[in-house]
Amino acid sequence: MTIQVFNTLSGKKEDFVPISGKKVLMYACGPTVYDLSHLGHARTFIIWDVVYRYLKSAGYDVTFARNITDVDDKIINRAKEVGIGPEKLARKFTYSYWHDMASLNVDFPDYEPRATEYITQMIAFVEQLIEGGNAYEAGGDVYFDVSSFKEYGKLGKQDLEQLLVGAREQVINQDALSALKKTPVDFALWKRAAEGELGWASPWGRGRPGWHLECSTMIKHILGESIDLHVGGEDLVFPHHENEIAQSEALHKKPLAKYWLHNGFVQISSEKMSKSLGNFSTIRDLLTTFSPDTIRLFVLQTHYRNPIDFTLESLAATHAGIQRILKAASFAGTSQNGAGVEASPAALSVAEKFKSDFNEAMSNDFNTAIAISHLFQFADAINKTKDEKDRHFQALVLVKHASILGLTLEDRRLQIDSPLGSKLVDLLLNLRQEAKAKKDFASSDLIRKSLTDLGINVMDSAAGVTWERI
Ligand SMILES: [Zn+2]
Repeated sequence: MTIQVFNTLSGKKEDFVPISGKKVLMYACGPTVYDLSHLGHARTFIIWDVVYRYLKSAGYDVTFARNITDVDDKIINRAKEVGIGPEKLARKFTYSYWHDMASLNVDFPDYEPRATEYITQMIAFVEQLIEGGNAYEAGGDVYFDVSSFKEYGKLGKQDLEQLLVGAREQVINQDALSALKKTPVDFALWKRAAEGELGWASPWGRGRPGWHLECSTMIKHILGESIDLHVGGEDLVFPHHENEIAQSEALHKKPLAKYWLHNGFVQISSEKMSKSLGNFSTIRDLLTTFSPDTIRLFVLQTHYRNPIDFTLESLAATHAGIQRILKAASFAGTSQNGAGVEASPAALSVAEKFKSDFNEAMSNDFNTAIAISHLFQFADAINKTKDEKDRHFQALVLVKHASILGLTLEDRRLQIDSPLGSKLVDLLLNLRQEAKAKKDFASSDLIRKSLTDLGINVMDSAAGVTWERI
């Protein structure tokens, strides 16, 4: 089955044909580690994790690099605010990012370079750009001369002439407009470090690399001069990815990446909503109440290019829905291997139909939204299947495909101390529903509060009442 992807570079959907056969070189821009990760980060890293998993499951030999930006103005500024060294701050938030990614079952990439490990190579990259007439030194900074790269603007669909005309009023890159630049659209490859600030020795004095240069250099040294897939959030298209293209293609005279894929934002619609989110702004806050599967499914229920409207109600509804999948998966038992499991022709054909529908959705620009709707339909069919062997066989197929989406299928309700404990919670919640129906809110509130005190979180949504252990 041919995979199609929407390429930001061409502005259309294209057949995915890697540069060399089944080998896929893939790079995702990782986090700048200066704060805790939030749901927007979760979305970005979950979707590219699923693309990585799906390509591997489709038989591609994928090498995936996802960097960590551990030197940046944001890190330096935050470190000053909190009064610790920037290296220590970066390390602290690198660890918390790893923790969050592991909690969300985001797979480790094959390479996870930190920008500070590649300073020597970054300096060499800049030296070559200066030699080739694409960059210039000014007052200890080095800038990329945008006018030297005729294709500038091709990814972000920006017209260089227009950019130049309007640029004085408009800050179009992350650097403050500098009097040292030949034109305001030029961007920093290397920035002079102030006295006492984090920096490395270079031919232009002590300084640090620009953010865009970091990615171009790490891609070159880890994956090569041309890669197949370059991915990231849509906020990176311009200027970050545009500038990566300018640097790499000016130097190597070949395309940096064949396909550029970008994911949409997570939107929090209203001010009221962002206030009501309160403590739920970070991944670790969300994980105190919602399971990793709930968060993954919530994110993946929207196609990656579309925006997601985030509300706690929609997350709670996802949580309620996931129980259907968990129930179906439970018929797989502990065996993850379908070998030797016999199933009737009817059960086989339902499973085959699911497999082909799932793959058709995923190969259509990774349409996880449609793939998940097939997963739910298949789960419902399994839950209705009476024959034990058929159910077991189909559940194994379900588990395998759910793992492509990175779902753990761990039923957190089963982590209650005994099956009896789980039934007792259900019993109490039934009593609470009865109390509510009789408008006996004192009793229903008391039951809820008592359960919360025991570490059990009760969630009400349009789809019904669910609970899980905190
Ligand atoms: Zn990048």
